[in-house]
Amino acid sequence: MSASLIDGKALAARIREGVARRAAALREKGRPPKLACLLIGDDPASISYAGSQQKHAEGVGIDYELRCLPSDCDMPTALSAVDALNVDTNVSGIIIQMPVPKPLDGFALQQRIAASKDVEGVGAANLGLLAMGRDALAPCTAAAAFACCKASGVDMTGKESVVVGRSVIVGKPLAMLLLGANATVTQCHTRTRDLAAHTRRAELLFVAAGVPELIGAEHVGEGAIVIDVGTHRVDAADGKKKTVGDVKFDEVAAIASQITPVPGGVGPVTVAMLLENTVAAAARAAH
Ligand code: NAD
Repeated sequence: MSASLIDGKALAARIREGVARRAAALREKGRPPKLACLLIGDDPASISYAGSQQKHAEGVGIDYELRCLPSDCDMPTALSAVDALNVDTNVSGIIIQMPVPKPLDGFALQQRIAASKDVEGVGAANLGLLAMGRDALAPCTAAAAFACCKASGVDMTGKESVVVGRSVIVGKPLAMLLLGANATVTQCHTRTRDLAAHTRRAELLFVAAGVPELIGAEHVGEGAIVIDVGTHRVDAADGKKKTVGDVKFDEVAAIASQITPVPGGVGPVTVAMLLENTVAAAARAAH
């Protein structure tokens, strides 16, 4: 391996330190930041994810509240629960645990979150502000991938940047963040012809395709900075499971100048970004 690692765990720890300082200052002012999570139903993965959010939030001095609704609740009840959180002045940020049970409309529920409390950056208002280059609560994973690139120390101005993936929560907002940093951006997706021809040109390569180890040595130019957003549990040779990204780490690390590992890259920074957005939302509300 010739590339140096962009250490997501260390970056996340630095972000959390900053968040903890800001959270303590807000608490002193009598405006403690608070993250509220709406959990509908009893999906074990969602319950476990909420538990982990609580641990992370409380770890940096952000209060956490879980509001639960039964899986058979109807849409008006769920919307009312979001409205109640929107008007609760003690709540700085709102998360709706996805997926919500059928036939509830998860998209409509997320769009109901007040823009000022949309700490996952999933609402149209924040995406619109981001597209306009305005102050916005950016989607956490896109913000994390961008922060990992920044942590590499590179000046993004004018850099050939390729984003593989165009999802609303990762690929598109990431392209907007890169444009905001004056990078030259190409966005690739499933209909892109000759993916490798694009990715090989990239000085900054971001991969958020959701396909395990899609990107190999043949896709990467010498010295590129590679940010791998993917995360997948796959079968390992020894019959156990292992976590891999969207990038074939070993062969790409031999060509790249800097690379994020999986695990330990974008993942931990994503969680830190949620905390960062929460404290930013709380600070704005406190003014
Ligand atoms: P998604 O499935 O919504 O979007 C994938 C995008 O990649 C689509 O726009 C699609 O057009 C494109 N794509 C798929 N296959 C492709 C191919 N062969 N060539 C070119 N483009 C292709 O996924 P997502 O929600 O954007 O997530 C992307 C990845 O990031 C997933 O692996 C997911 O697990 C991971 N993720 C990680 C974190 C984290 O915290 N690290 C958070 C969210 C998502």
